[in-house]
Amino acid sequence: DDVVTLSGVRKTYDLGGVVEALAGVSLSLPRGSYTAVMGPSGSGKSTLLNLVGGLDTATEGTVTVGGRDLSAATEGERAAIRGSRVGFVFQTFNLMPRLTAVENVAMPLVFDGWGRTERRERARDLLADVGLGERLDHRPTELSGGQRQRVAIARALAPDPELILADEPTGNVDTETGERIMSLLDDLHAAGNTILLVTHERRIAAHAERIVHVRDGAIERIEELSD
Ligand code: ADP
Ligand code: ADP
Repeated sequence: DDVVTLSGVRKTYDLGGVVEALAGVSLSLPRGSYTAVMGPSGSGKSTLLNLVGGLDTATEGTVTVGGRDLSAATEGERAAIRGSRVGFVFQTFNLMPRLTAVENVAMPLVFDGWGRTERRERARDLLADVGLGERLDHRPTELSGGQRQRVAIARALAPDPELILADEPTGNVDTETGERIMSLLDDLHAAGNTILLVTHERRIAAHAERIVHVRDGAIERIEELSD
């Protein structure tokens, strides 16, 4: 039972010259698995994550998420799959500047039909989980970079997505915050969520069950980790 399947995925960018970001990648993510993708800068890690998240489309090959072929889906269908199944933990936060931390985190639940009280309660719980229980009513400009990162993570987790995509989630936070974020991902894995994490740090990748090593847009080897 695979949540994600990539089959012969190639992705090129044509900007005057052609850049081959992915050169034929095949990979499956079983339900409940925790996979890290490691590789040097420019090796295609973010491209891989963006394709799985339906933010971009493959040049060749197929990407399926939850049994749906994203390569054949319209932009509207991809947006629906993203909204209901996928939680993104990226470095760009896109928080709403006029909303407080609680309101930002509660926002995705509006679309899922949650009531106002339940939304706020869940948002408060998640913010406490990421260590921001004391910053509930702060707006993004009143928070540090690391704190904004944690608000964005709480927001990504609010709808309890079955698939969590994390691109360098500890990239610009201090060590303590980074550990907090990683232990949150560990908890989500323990709760049965499927996680795909991109990082260039071995220490971070070691939280996963296996590490997919990529180089020049291709899988070099897959390392199974025992705990
Ligand atoms: P990584 O995440 O491993 O650093 P990326 O997936 O960001 O690698 O990039 C892989 C390759 O594709 C790089 O050569 C990069 O310059 C190129 N690339 C990525 N995104 C774009 C884009 N939007 N337009 C053009 N080239 C891109
Ligand atoms: P980090 O981004 O690693 O969390 P910062 O150096 O940005 O750390 O912030 C350190 C502390 O300063 C934070 O705990 C935060 O409360 C406070 N802080 C930073 N920026 C602001 C800001 N714009 N408004 C209010 N407090 C801030």
